[in-house]
Parts: sequence; structure tokens; C-alpha cells
Amino acid sequence: MGHHLHTLLPCCKEATLLAEKQLQQPLPLLQRIGLQFHLLYCFFCRRYVKQSRIIDQQLRALQASEGPALEESVKLQWEEKIAAALKK
Ligand SMILES: [Zn+2]
Repeated sequence: MGHHLHTLLPCCKEATLLAEKQLQQPLPLLQRIGLQFHLLYCFFCRRYVKQSRIIDQQLRALQASEGPALEESVKLQWEEKIAAALKK
């Protein structure tokens, strides 16, 4: 019982981990529901997910246009730019 509740209502740490994982691979249904449910009431994770999706998309676009070798410093610059843009 407790286990199911735990699965359906992930805490913030779990939700962000699930969100990260979801960018790499599809999540099992229960985890996906749990994540969506958490995002319904948690503003911070919603913002986090939105941000990491945008960063992920930008990085993919960059990698597609410039080849697979992307400097860490370039990644960081992008993340800062995107984070700044989201704050507006
Ligand atoms: Zn949260």
C-alpha cells in the first residue's frame, strides 16, 4: 500500500529524477502518471521540467548542426542563456 502511494506521489527529488530519465527513455506508465501528478501541484518541478526540456532540445539541435563534439563550456553557456531567458 505504502509502496503504491510512494510510486504515485513522488517527492520533488524523485520527480526531477524521473523527468531527467524521461528525456533519455520512455518511462513506465505508473512513473509517468506519478510525474504528471506531481507536476500538477508542484510549481518548482514544473519549471524544472520545462527548463530541462528546453535545454535538452537546444543541445540536440546544436549537436545536430555542429556534430557530436560539443564543448562543456559551450553547454554551460547555453544553459545560462536559457536559464536567463526563462527568468524574464
Ligand atoms: Zn516538486
